Amino acid sequence: MEIFNEISPLKAFLDGQRSRGNSIGLVPTMGALHTGHIALIEASRKQNKLTVCSIYVNPAQFNNTEDLRHYPRMFDQDKALLENAGCDVLFMPGDGVMYPEPSVLKFSFGELEQVMEGTYRPGHFSGVGLAVSKLLNIVEPTRAYFGQKDWQQFAIIQKLVRELKFNVELQCVPTLRESDGLAMSSRNMRLTPEQRKKADIFYKALSQAREALIKGTEIGVIKKRVHQSFEKTDVRLEYFEITDSQNLVVLNSVKDPKQTILCIAGYIGSVRLIDNMFLDL
Ligand code: AMP
Repeated sequence: MEIFNEISPLKAFLDGQRSRGNSIGLVPTMGALHTGHIALIEASRKQNKLTVCSIYVNPAQFNNTEDLRHYPRMFDQDKALLENAGCDVLFMPGDGVMYPEPSVLKFSFGELEQVMEGTYRPGHFSGVGLAVSKLLNIVEPTRAYFGQKDWQQFAIIQKLVRELKFNVELQCVPTLRESDGLAMSSRNMRLTPEQRKKADIFYKALSQAREALIKGTEIGVIKKRVHQSFEKTDVRLEYFEITDSQNLVVLNSVKDPKQTILCIAGYIGSVRLIDNMFLDL
């Protein structure tokens, strides 16, 4: 695996690959890699000649300085996992490479960021837009891979790519889960064994809500049940919404089952977890 920390040598290497007609897949990550990330690498390897994984903990997308400070960093282990997975290139820029001067650019994604993550993490998607734009311009991939776990992020990146006319094909990879249903996440490793036992509540809530929705239960009733199920525990529900998967408008009734997604976020102690599930699996 080739490892680059600087932009120019990476670009020179990738230009060489492109001139030989090789397709390039990009998998942007913040490291602390797990099987979910590796699924993205595998998806890229199937479709592209060359796979580039970037690891960059992007300060601009953290609205909470404690979350940024505690975000797990384990670069040696990440390198080994990527080597094993057959990743071709690792790009690990430092802050000075990604933000050589303080950035004043701000992205606004309108209604797409006025719900869910956008409401609870002000500035988050502007930071995501900035880092993803930089990475797409640096790597110029044929395809870029993102996880369904961060569905709102995927919807926003689709908008970014359409509006700014990035010449890239976006791919969304289904969420990989632990055996109890908990969505794999770098933040899971911050849970104590006690907290970890309770963390399946998000998957359970989504599954039960989905079943109820299929049976025709009203959305208002389902939401109430979800809130009540969290009130019985010390896991703090931040939001549970049922939205249109494309424009993220919050639904009061199902219009198109194929375009309906259930989304949830909350805190176990100080660890914030999110998850989602399509109505039509
Ligand atoms: P992160 O390192 O958390 O920024 O995630 C990097 C990419 O991996 C994002 O596109 C995430 O949506 C994706 N991802 C994270 N967790 C999972 C998972 N459990 N299954 C599939 N993709 C994931």
